[in-house]
Amino acid sequence: MKVIEYKLYPNKIALGKLEFTLEQARLLYNKALEERIISWKEKQKGINYYDQAKSFKGKYPISAMLTQYVLKRLDTTYQRFFKKNSSFPRFKSKDRFRSIDIRQWGLNASLKEGKLRYDKMLIRTSNHRELEGKLKTGRIVKRADGWYLQVTCEVQNLLPKKKIQSAIGLDMGLKYLVADSKGNTIEAPKLFRKTETKLTKQQRTLSRRVKGSSGRHKARQLVAKTHLRIQRQRRDFLHKTSFRYAQNDLIAVEKLNIKGMLKNHHLAKSISDASWNMLLQLIRYKAENAGSYFVEVNPRYTSQKCSGCGAIVQKSLSVRTHICSECSLVVDRDTNASLNILRAGIALGGEMGLPISLKPEATRSLA
Ligand SMILES: [Zn+2]
Repeated sequence: MKVIEYKLYPNKIALGKLEFTLEQARLLYNKALEERIISWKEKQKGINYYDQAKSFKGKYPISAMLTQYVLKRLDTTYQRFFKKNSSFPRFKSKDRFRSIDIRQWGLNASLKEGKLRYDKMLIRTSNHRELEGKLKTGRIVKRADGWYLQVTCEVQNLLPKKKIQSAIGLDMGLKYLVADSKGNTIEAPKLFRKTETKLTKQQRTLSRRVKGSSGRHKARQLVAKTHLRIQRQRRDFLHKTSFRYAQNDLIAVEKLNIKGMLKNHHLAKSISDASWNMLLQLIRYKAENAGSYFVEVNPRYTSQKCSGCGAIVQKSLSVRTHICSECSLVVDRDTNASLNILRAGIALGGEMGLPISLKPEATRSLA
């Protein structure tokens, strides 16, 4: 499955219709939620999707399909609430209802030659990427700087897996975002510091504006745009970094319990800033698309073990350099870990029966 995003360029009429459709869908969502709550409070009786699909049919000036999708979306949030103990569905403000689902292509929606046809609208799309594979679902999303179309398509991965001739180990760290087994370190990007300073100022302005005023509305728009910019800068950086690493035939990383780590507040800020999770997902995805192997190794001892001789060298988090008294190896702490991760990855790959044909220098210590 692959997600492609297009920017949309609706003309004035289409723009008006998109806004209208989104708003009607939101009103429907809230009304249907209200109906469920009232029915439960007054009659202790639940209403399911089929009841609502029947009673709301044709009640809102949007397509029958979209009506179903909106009710389905509410139903899904309900199910999740009951099954997974997540929070109770809430009424959606305009800020929290920003997308129009297209669950099915064909009757009501199509995407061809740089144009989206949806519900009798014809909207030009950016055309930077060609569609691959079969269209599955889509959604039209409203953002601070305009409208977008997200499309998922089914891509058949026909690439044969490669013989492994190059391999790399990656250590995700706090000081560095990544240290790799070739001795490179990549710092968490500072490039959006500037944008972040700007954001802080804009947020201060926003908090001073009177609620409901047009000044506040404008300030909120600015904040939203800056958020978006930071998000994009981060994503861009992570895409480039992950692309580089995915060029290796085998990529070894530690199996990290990121959820557990995020509970540790001390670590949490730097982890989410550093966006480890997204980086790992991107590397995995790109590696798989390139026919490379992505393996996750047990994180035990990866930082304490000496990558030169295998001796255990205990050190606390604040000790940045690995110094081995057995073989006198001196190397950056994270680089040492990445070498151990690489070795463990190759060993694991061997156990899994991967076609490894690495030259011995591929795993040589950097000392
Ligand atoms: Zn050693």
